[in-house]
Amino acid sequence: MSKRIIIANWKMNPETKEEAHDRAKLISQASDGLSKTEVVLCPPFPFIETVSQFKSFTLGAQDLSSEVEGAFTGEVSAYELLDMGVKVVLVGHSERRARGDSDDIVAKKLLIAIKSSLRPVLCVGESVRDEAGEYFSFIIKQLEGALDKIPKKNLGKLMIAYEPVWAIGESPTGPATPAQCYEMSVYIRRVLSKMIGTEQAISLSILYGGSVDKKNAQFFLSDGGVQGLLIGRESLTKSFLDLLKQ
Ligand code: PEP
Repeated sequence: MSKRIIIANWKMNPETKEEAHDRAKLISQASDGLSKTEVVLCPPFPFIETVSQFKSFTLGAQDLSSEVEGAFTGEVSAYELLDMGVKVVLVGHSERRARGDSDDIVAKKLLIAIKSSLRPVLCVGESVRDEAGEYFSFIIKQLEGALDKIPKKNLGKLMIAYEPVWAIGESPTGPATPAQCYEMSVYIRRVLSKMIGTEQAISLSILYGGSVDKKNAQFFLSDGGVQGLLIGRESLTKSFLDLLKQ
């Protein structure tokens, strides 16, 4: 059985290299010897090198350029990430989509991640839930938009993170319920099995993200139909260390 995956997304935190070092050290200590969990840490780009000295977790990045190399000021390429030791990369996080990443850009980033043999985590999720269930079509559109042009044989390392935008961050609606997560994980797998074949759809990991904390993490993993979690704010706190040991 493959390991469950816990991804820490630090977003644009912390402010200093020293703090990044100290937090990563604690996460590394908590991750050491975990036999059933792969921990992935995605720090901001400037702290990747600092964090890369710890070996008990997998090094991740929060984004990558949709271009391979060249005159793209401010961008960071897949090959630069690989050179820093990055193995996993988030693609299409809702906070990147909100800053301009269209489905086309997400598709380009995903293709580059796959070609460069990074393990991509494709983030999908609706902004709101309507009673007519239109949000299901929204998820199909995001999955098709990202995966349509990618040869099926290259999707072996793909992970999908279901991150309903309404559940991320300080939102007053709070997290999804494990039942909502379960329903969506089944739906995503069904859509994927039509797109990439049942065998691949069954074997890839689906993660849940959105206001996960120490108290609710277990419920998503036991009842949410997912094989891992993508965690923002909580991953910057001490209770994240307890969450890892659960
Ligand atoms: C995220 O950044 O992907 C996320 C899920 O954030 P939070 O856990 O803070 O809701």
